[in-house]
Order: sequence, then C-alpha cells, then structure tokens
Amino acid sequence: MGVHAEHRRVVMGLEVLRVPVLRDNYVWLAHDPASGETVAIDPAVAQPVLDAAAERGWQITQIWNTHWHADHIGGNAEIKAATGCFITGPAAEAPRIPTLDRQVTEGDSVMLGEHTAYVLEVPAHTAGHIAYHMPGEPLIFIGDTLFAMGCGRLFEGTAEQMFANMQRLSHLDPETAVYCAHEYTQSNGRFALVAEPDNEAIRHRMAEVDVARSNGEATVPTTIALELATNPFMRARNASELAERRAAKDAF
Ligand code: ZN
Ligand code: FE
Repeated sequence: MGVHAEHRRVVMGLEVLRVPVLRDNYVWLAHDPASGETVAIDPAVAQPVLDAAAERGWQITQIWNTHWHADHIGGNAEIKAATGCFITGPAAEAPRIPTLDRQVTEGDSVMLGEHTAYVLEVPAHTAGHIAYHMPGEPLIFIGDTLFAMGCGRLFEGTAEQMFANMQRLSHLDPETAVYCAHEYTQSNGRFALVAEPDNEAIRHRMAEVDVARSNGEATVPTTIALELATNPFMRARNASELAERRAAKDAF
C-alpha cells in the first residue's frame, strides 16, 4: 500500500522500583524495557526482591553491590541461584563478597542494556565503597555514602575522604536522582535542624518529611539539588566541619 515502515529505535528510560526490606533498607530494582534486563542494587535479602521482580514480570539479570555490609549483599547468593544473574561489586572488597562475578574500580563502566553506569569510588563508610552513576538518566545508586540530609558513618575511612566524596557528588548534575539504601531521612533531618538552625530549606523539607513518614511513605530517592540545599554533610565547608558534624550526629 506504499506505506513505508520506518525503523526507529525508541530509547526508553529505566524504570526504578523501590523494595523496602528489613527495618529500613531499600533495595532498588532498575528495569530496562528495551533489553529486558533488570538489576537489583544492594539486595539485603532475596525473597522480597525476587517477589517484587516477579510481580512486574521482570527477570533479574544482574546484581550491583556498593559495599560488603551484610544488609547490602545478603541476598546475592540466593538471587543468583534462582536467576543465574551476574554480580558486580567493588574490587577492593571482593574478599568479603564471595559471590562476585566481576570486580570493578573507579571509571569502569557497567551496562544495563544500552544504559551505562560509571563506577565512582566513594570510600569512607567502608574502605572500598563504590557508587553506580548513570549520567544519561541521570541517577546514582549511592549505597550508604549519601543519605537524604545525611551521610554514612565513617566505619573504615576518614572525614577527609567523606568530604572529598561530598565535593565530588556536589558537582553532579543537580537533577541527578539519588538512590540511597536506607530510610534515615527523618532522623537525619532532626539533626540537620540542629546543625543548621537558620536553614529555611531544611525546615521546609522536614515539614514535608514528617507528613510523608506519618503516612508511611518513603522519602527517597532524593536529588543532588535538594541535598545541596539541606544536607549538613554535603554543605560542610571543609573536612573538619564534616568531622564535627559526623561526631555530633553519632552522639545525637
Ligand atoms: Zn553499610
Ligand atoms: Fe546499609
């Protein structure tokens, strides 16, 4: 009939699903409709993650780990056994993540279909902590390095390292969606109000967070722009100020 069927490649965005597990962990499932790939980021446990994927008709093809803590890798073996998925994680922590198929370091790229994630080394919470940055979305899976109005505890690193991480993250596209691994926003915000009592943006945000939490709603993902305005660790002017705030928060 003379109809010319033009071949087009439709680039569809990722779908990201939040799976709340344990007390306050979030496992993220990122699904690429074009390739059918699905990655589970930091699966603390297996069954709720497998169930969430199955409900959507998604097949988990990969796991990306940010660090070795049990509440980030606990589901690795069981999900791999169930799906045959491929597991990527930080080279520096490979001895503590026995299920890894691929070890990555700063600057490596990891593909989800045709979507590229770049590995950022962000040590401090753990010595080999990494993040997965997808500038094309834009989004970042940040594990326990940056939280809404907070940052990870300094278990295996220094305030200088965490300050360098915060500086680095502050230069990402402000619209970058930040997928952190815990719902800590309300307690972080209570500290943020004390750390920066004159910060109107924190007060405004906390009012919204309190409403969301009282309705049982999640408060992440956040964005780089929102953290720049309200996160006392990202806003610390130097490593010693970050160190002071981190110590105060630990005792808060
Ligand atoms: Zn952790
Ligand atoms: Fe954690």
